[in-house]
Amino acid sequence: MQSIRTTCPYCGVGCGVLAAPDGRGGLGIAGDPDHPANKGRLCVKGSALGETIGHAGRLLAPRIHGREAGWDEALDLVARRFSETIAEHGPDSVGFYVSGQLLTEDYYVANKLMKGFIGSGNIDTNSRLCMASAVAGHRRAFGTDTVPGLYEDIELADTVVLVGSNLAWCHPVLYQRLAAAREARGTRVVVVDPRRTATCDIADLHLPLAPGSDSALFNLLLAEIGRKSEICADNLEGIEDAMAAARETLPSTTGLAHSQIRQFLDLWLHSDKVVTVWSQGVNQSDSGTDKVNAILNCHLASGRIGRPGMGPFSVTGQPNAMGGREVGGLANMLACHLEIENPAHREAVRAFWNAPRMAERPGLKAVDMFRAVEDGRIKALWIICTNPAATMPEADRVARAIAGCDFVVVSDIMARTDTVRLAHVALPATGWGEKDGTVTNSERRISRQRRTLAPAGRARDDWRILAEVGRRMGWPGAFGWTSPAEVFAEHAALSGIAGGLGSDFDISAHAGITQAEYDALEPFLWPQSAGRQGGRFFGDGRFHTPSGRGRMVAVTPRPPQPVGGDHPFRLNTGRVRDHWHSMTRTGLSPRLSRHLAEPFLELHPSDAARLGLAPASLAEVESPQGRAVLRVLVSDRVAPGHPFAPMHWTRETAPSGRVDALVPGTVDPVSGQPALKSAPVAIRPF
Ligand code: SF4
Repeated sequence: MQSIRTTCPYCGVGCGVLAAPDGRGGLGIAGDPDHPANKGRLCVKGSALGETIGHAGRLLAPRIHGREAGWDEALDLVARRFSETIAEHGPDSVGFYVSGQLLTEDYYVANKLMKGFIGSGNIDTNSRLCMASAVAGHRRAFGTDTVPGLYEDIELADTVVLVGSNLAWCHPVLYQRLAAAREARGTRVVVVDPRRTATCDIADLHLPLAPGSDSALFNLLLAEIGRKSEICADNLEGIEDAMAAARETLPSTTGLAHSQIRQFLDLWLHSDKVVTVWSQGVNQSDSGTDKVNAILNCHLASGRIGRPGMGPFSVTGQPNAMGGREVGGLANMLACHLEIENPAHREAVRAFWNAPRMAERPGLKAVDMFRAVEDGRIKALWIICTNPAATMPEADRVARAIAGCDFVVVSDIMARTDTVRLAHVALPATGWGEKDGTVTNSERRISRQRRTLAPAGRARDDWRILAEVGRRMGWPGAFGWTSPAEVFAEHAALSGIAGGLGSDFDISAHAGITQAEYDALEPFLWPQSAGRQGGRFFGDGRFHTPSGRGRMVAVTPRPPQPVGGDHPFRLNTGRVRDHWHSMTRTGLSPRLSRHLAEPFLELHPSDAARLGLAPASLAEVESPQGRAVLRVLVSDRVAPGHPFAPMHWTRETAPSGRVDALVPGTVDPVSGQPALKSAPVAIRPF
């Protein structure tokens, strides 16, 4: 059977996939050689997609209080309870918590319903846990949330610096591209990470810096750029303050030897083309936005931005974190990268949507949203395509908050997750392979996901479910689309208006897209409008700030919250190579579970010896927020005092192995992103 071109649903690399239905409900999977992101490559997760499409465990019909119900009954109930809550308590008494795995069309409809029609900013997303600090850092430096460069820059660079990124496991195909470039061109690779991860296998230099000291390292680099008089000042503002803060930074705060810092500075400054890639080790921090700006400062100051082989590069964890940003899926943004605090932007979106009740201020960010659920300010909550009872920091507290909420709707593909079991109404959603739409990868490339399989049971697409509720709440015209192509066309048309207001996000070339054109849509980079077709940003020295200049930010490095007393270890959390989030899909593949089959605690040999923990024994890990029991993996890949544990297991899959139950709800004050890599814990033999 003929292959259908689609896109992988996992990480932000956004690989093209050829899916070939076998006529018996199965799919043959191969990398798409014509997709620019992966050029035929796939990692182990992507290549196992065909093993994860069965209907075992799927939610196949709507459920109300656990009993099977019809779609009309369920949708009527959702619309009625949300309408009644809003009428009685106001628009801010409801919230949507959505996901970087939704397709852009789903996301657009959710955002339109909440911000334009319900009239609240209370829509936030698990992307808050992934890249909110990158968004905030971009906006401070560039005026907009713009990723300046392209994947090919990683292949064109002389030196690639990876900061807080285990690219080998978390963005494997991008890692393969970097490794191939290194082989072909001798690209120097620097890994900045307290852990010696698999990515270090190709590193020319590994800097195991003190946790949280990334800003200090990049401040030292900025000061050195200033000393060498390499500042390109023509188009920058804020230089003096940023340089003064940089010059005050003490090398000792990094925990690195002088020789290691010197080697890093020399490598960076002697390389004409440098790309700095960062990920969750930077973003998931209580000073994540400052860390991002410390990196951006160096690229701005040295002019290494927006040109081939040069630039700062945020790689997103999720497949459509970027698409979510584009539609305004974060509580503090509007659609098409417009600003919710800007009256002209609000009015433009209101007029375009003919919206009756436009949100006038940012809504609650993820951690605050669940605090509002806990204390009853939010009385009706709709959770879509995500599992916060397992994956939010302070997960047990979040689960209790959801359990105590007056009315909880959960849209999901699976019947049993930690969050679905708390739902008053559970709505079956179509999953990867069953739905049509678009996603945007980390280099701003929009690709189609295409339907290759029939929906499981009575599952429906998320955009359609949301639109059905919008119609039932009284807005049939505004939510009257009949296909995702029509939603995409509306989003593209709105982006043209946004482009006229100075937004970087403009795909108005697709405003009139037909169904046939949508079906045939090739992967493309935004912007795509009458005036601009893809490419890099800022190489011409023009930024999106009011002055048109790039903005350097004075960063005073702040150490993470101290550990000590009863909780002397700093627990770092993250992914393993072969699993995704809470494993609802990858857990279906025995092959993917072979790599690392159970929750574990990676502990330095000196810590293990001191605690009397032998390899493969069980350790009890306890924090003020919760408790877990984990298998001990003794390894010098982690530093003494800084163990690591993966985040994938849930109450459904390993009740005592839930790591996010240990993590506090501490957030970055600018972005609201939780500090998921820094949980103070105690460890003892179990
Ligand atoms: Fe999917 Fe990411 Fe692997 Fe590509 S690198 S196949 S997008 S998980």
